[in-house]
Amino acid sequence: MSVAVTGGIGAGKSTVAQLLGESGFTVVDSDRLAREVVEPGTDGLRAVVDTFGPELLRDDGSLDRAALAATVFGPGGDERRRQLEHIIHPLVRAGYDAVVRDSAPESVVVNDIPLVRELRVAAGFHLVVGVGVADDTTRLARLVQRGMAESDARARIDAQLGDEARRRLCDVWLDNGGDQAALADAVSGLAQRLRGFAGNRAAERAAPYP
Ligand code: ATP
Repeated sequence: MSVAVTGGIGAGKSTVAQLLGESGFTVVDSDRLAREVVEPGTDGLRAVVDTFGPELLRDDGSLDRAALAATVFGPGGDERRRQLEHIIHPLVRAGYDAVVRDSAPESVVVNDIPLVRELRVAAGFHLVVGVGVADDTTRLARLVQRGMAESDARARIDAQLGDEARRRLCDVWLDNGGDQAALADAVSGLAQRLRGFAGNRAAERAAPYP
């Protein structure tokens, strides 16, 4: 069974994914997958070079991530960023699907999806869990505590979809406005539900066709 965990920047996605991992579920690191699909020798890297040019390659044949970031996040980079997402997202999704396919039917595979744009990609998940902090001041303080400049944190929060809109796209919503213990409690309730869902799905698949 596949579960997406999504939320705005600093909402607590990684914390929720980590807690679910500690509860015994498989957690896929989509950032790691996104790096793997453009390693030397991959179709992903070939597609990136075909699209953006060989100047993005280092002498050793690996991708120059700083140069790529400058290309897609620099001025006028919106279209290039879309092109890059068009290459990377399906490959990341395929990697994730392979993990789900190779897992036992009663297992739950969790994917932490950082960008709301990727909710389009989330369409194929059995369950989409959203994490949100209603109060932006709390979220801002957590990001600043994590070392981000307040102006950067504010700009990123403002650039993303608001929680109200995001919430409508999710099947389950976890409010992370309380302390870490409250979040751990909410995740433990979610883990119990996920075990129930996964068990039912496995039983349905195993049941003889009437
Ligand atoms: P990003 O989008 O940047 O990857 P994220 O949604 O994965 O962020 P986390 O990294 O889980 O969010 O949380 C952001 C910061 O807030 C972390 O430093 C985390 O330890 C802290 N944090 C998360 N939940 C709480 C909480 N309930 N109380 C206090 N701090 C929290």
